[in-house]
Amino acid sequence: MLHDVAIVGAGPTGAVAANLCGLHGLSAVAFDSAPDVYDLPRAVGMWDDVQRILANSGLLETTLPVMYEPVGAEFVDAAGKRLIGLDYPGGLITPNGYPVMRMFHQPGMERSVRAHIADLPDVNLHLSHEVIEFEQHHDYVSLRVHDLASGSSQTVQAKWLIACDGAASPVRKACGIDWQSLGYDREWLVVDVTVTGEDRLPPCVRQVCDPERPTTMMPLPLNMRRWEFQLRDGETAEEMERPERVWKLVEKWMPRQDAELVRAAVYCFHSTIAETFRSDRVFLAGDAAHQTPPFMGQGLCSGLRDVDNLAWKIAHVERGLAGDGLLDTYTAERRPLTLKAIEHSMKTGQLIDAFAEMTRGGPEPPPELQAYAYGGDAQLPDLSSGLLAGRDSNWIGRLVPQSAAVVEGRHGTLDELVGLHWAVVSGKDPREALDDDARSRWEKLDAMFVTIPEPSGAMLALLLEHEVVVARPDRVIFGEGKDVPAL
Ligand SMILES: Cc1cc2nc3c(=O)[nH]c(=O)nc-3n(C[C@H](O)[C@H](O)[C@H](O)COP(=O)(O)OP(=O)(O)OC[C@H]3O[C@@H](n4cnc5c(N)ncnc54)[C@H](O)[C@@H]3O)c2cc1C
Repeated sequence: MLHDVAIVGAGPTGAVAANLCGLHGLSAVAFDSAPDVYDLPRAVGMWDDVQRILANSGLLETTLPVMYEPVGAEFVDAAGKRLIGLDYPGGLITPNGYPVMRMFHQPGMERSVRAHIADLPDVNLHLSHEVIEFEQHHDYVSLRVHDLASGSSQTVQAKWLIACDGAASPVRKACGIDWQSLGYDREWLVVDVTVTGEDRLPPCVRQVCDPERPTTMMPLPLNMRRWEFQLRDGETAEEMERPERVWKLVEKWMPRQDAELVRAAVYCFHSTIAETFRSDRVFLAGDAAHQTPPFMGQGLCSGLRDVDNLAWKIAHVERGLAGDGLLDTYTAERRPLTLKAIEHSMKTGQLIDAFAEMTRGGPEPPPELQAYAYGGDAQLPDLSSGLLAGRDSNWIGRLVPQSAAVVEGRHGTLDELVGLHWAVVSGKDPREALDDDARSRWEKLDAMFVTIPEPSGAMLALLLEHEVVVARPDRVIFGEGKDVPAL
């Protein structure tokens, strides 16, 4: 059997990719060498746009029980005095329609995402199955898969391969794709506890700029807490992971009787990116394509943005709606944005060190570095290259704001009504102003015609500037028109 897509690795990126492929009508098979999800949390913060990706794939609702909304994020000195930061007032919802940031429990999120795969008739997930080699042919890829439970092997064929096999990515290496380091490689001790007593610490994300030991601390769902302690020169993982050493660090913040240690492990936070995210029929996604220091919670978020960008494009090519060139826009769009996310996170890490130096008498970090603090002026850019109809408006490349909307008499949010389709969005019913030819072109793409009867907030600002906009299935604003017939 020839699958549309084979996915190597069903960590969070691969599991969401499998769901998205199924939802876009592709047949897919995913393999993971591990028998279950990796049981210890790594990623903890999820931005609003990524919550939106999960929601649009029907994956957010069942993940909410393992999510928590922090009340803000800040940089403080060793005594806890705020140096810079921002508060998320209760109930603050961004134009994407979700809280700015939610903390989540990665194993719980992965289980919930994997469970949804069972609802997709043409998608199968095989655990304890290692992909040991693959070969690219003119119009398909063949994979050799080893069943680690039975010891048997099989050959599987798919038109496309998405490698979500993590930072060590055997697939990336086999493709000979260069892996470029951007220069941040620093060891931190990551400690998770379950709080069994009273949690008196602030319910926000904190970067403690202590020159003795820069420390990140944050509340997590399920009564958990995370600390990340920067290692000093000469400290080793072996020494730092000893429970007595871990408790010595944690007890500065929380008495031992109030917490149970879940894990303590030294991670080297890397900043790396693949030179391309595509090699013919193979695409890299998630940590297989990039690694980001975690200070801005961008690593996994970037991985989920990757597969959200890619799945609909593969589906369009498979349905004959687009040529192969559409798939080249995957690297063109995702690589520059991911590079910026990595650079942004590195600057945030440098700012922690610079504030720590300042508190021991060093210079104040320059404003251009302070811009990378939480709430600072430095923002991640919007899409500016790839499948966009010009750059005449600065709305193009941004995500279309969430809004109350109407589609063919049905009322709901724009996202609920549009699903994973293209959307032609206007204050009036866009179909009325389109001639038959224009309408049938959009219908060929299964586009939804969306009316926004009472625009407000960001949607109002958008529709005051443009009578009509077109959003891609991943919600990126593709183009705009001064009036509907101009479409
Ligand atoms: C301490 C820490 C904090 C972090 N905080 C954040 C955060 O707040 N926000 C954020 O967005 N990100 C964060 N990250 C990053 C995030 O954890 C990773 O980006 C994410 O886990 C990567 O997911 P993935 O699915 O791409 O890769 P992985 O989780 O590494 O999954 C790869 C999968 O591929 C499988 N595999 C590998 N080779 C094969 C093969 N040959 N055959 C079959 N299966 C194979 C593996 O078994 C594994 O399940 C953090 C990371 C760390 C370490």
